[in-house]
Amino acid sequence: MTTIYLKPHKEESLKRFHPWVFSGALAKVVLDASHKASEPQEGELVCVRSAANEVLGVGHWQIGSIAVRILAFGEEDLPKDFWAERIRAAYQVRASIGLVRPDNNTFRLIHGEGDFLPGLIVDVYADTAVVQAHSVGMHVNRMDIAKALTEEIPQVQNVYYKSDDTLPFKAPVEGEKVGYLVRNTGTPESRDAEEFWSIENGLSFRIDWLRGQKTGFFVDQRENRALVERYAKGKDVLNMFCYTGGFSLYALRGGAKSVDSVDVSQKAIDLVNVNVAKNFPKTTNHTAVAADAFEYLSKQKAEGKTYDLIVLDPPAFAKHRDAVKNALRGYQRINAKAIEMIRPGGILFTFSCSQAVDKEAFRLAVFSAAAQVGRKVRILHQLHQPQDHPINIYHPEGEYLKGLVLYVE
Ligand code: SAH
Repeated sequence: MTTIYLKPHKEESLKRFHPWVFSGALAKVVLDASHKASEPQEGELVCVRSAANEVLGVGHWQIGSIAVRILAFGEEDLPKDFWAERIRAAYQVRASIGLVRPDNNTFRLIHGEGDFLPGLIVDVYADTAVVQAHSVGMHVNRMDIAKALTEEIPQVQNVYYKSDDTLPFKAPVEGEKVGYLVRNTGTPESRDAEEFWSIENGLSFRIDWLRGQKTGFFVDQRENRALVERYAKGKDVLNMFCYTGGFSLYALRGGAKSVDSVDVSQKAIDLVNVNVAKNFPKTTNHTAVAADAFEYLSKQKAEGKTYDLIVLDPPAFAKHRDAVKNALRGYQRINAKAIEMIRPGGILFTFSCSQAVDKEAFRLAVFSAAAQVGRKVRILHQLHQPQDHPINIYHPEGEYLKGLVLYVE
């Protein structure tokens, strides 16, 4: 195996279990005999050693500022059964905290560094696991991962791989980036059209991992949706950026007087309608509209429309650090528009899923929005990502979702 030697003192963060080795920390790369090129291949396993030749761990080599993502600390090679053992451990956490139940078969199984598998995301929807590789190393190991998923997770019959948008494009990558790695039940087309429902807290969702965003569903809002259910009774609710209608279904179950679901994507709106019809076949108090958020809010305001409860869950406004300033302006603008439309004594659930925007910066943007509108606003809850999106304490970068629940006078 190729060995990476670090510069003196650069082993300290690895000794504190931070899983990334930055390229600036490298002193020397000693390639094993199989190499024809002068560099390791992207995605290959390498062993990392300190300047004093101490074994620090084994991980995936990458091109870019993060040179290695460590999979196993203190090991020279991946232990036998590594994939099965890590996946089993992640499943045990979900099972032991009560996320695996007949009325809840939807959960994130692997959350990258938070489950000690940097670069890997796995969401489980009923009998299908959807796998996303964010590193070439995970792409190279995708069949080991698929095998472990079907062997270790009782409910998983199919494994769908969806990494066309997530793999880095720094070097050519071999093999398909999209498609079933394992398929034991039905055809995706017939299942997607007719039978397939994934259940979250007793609510059924049609999940379209073939054409949908990310892995097909936003599992990360489960607990926050349940909080909306608690507050929805008798209220006129707007679910802005609704995607497949998660917050809308919980609001309807909570007894909302009316729910308006809005998303710019017509495909998302079609799915919201399918999901509402499945769970609440008799409901007449739900409307779904395909529209741009800013335009919709401006138009509704011009018509004098107001709401008791608004959910704002926009896509990441900042995907990179250099976009943070514009993102904060975006958060301020959209939150100001929403606060203006809340009836006195109403509630705003507002979120940011941009990892690059930290919770203080997001709160400041919402503060600026409240001040701009001039309403009295108090914070009732500070929300975050749920328990199946754990944050490795040694890798605080894993924290990304934050939300505020505001009481608006
Ligand atoms: N709240 C959702 C997840 C939201 S993801 C849930 O619980 O599942 C963000 C959504 O915002 C996407 O569905 C995307 O289509 C939508 N979106 C992006 N830009 C938008 C815009 N300008 N106006 C309205 N919706 C938009």
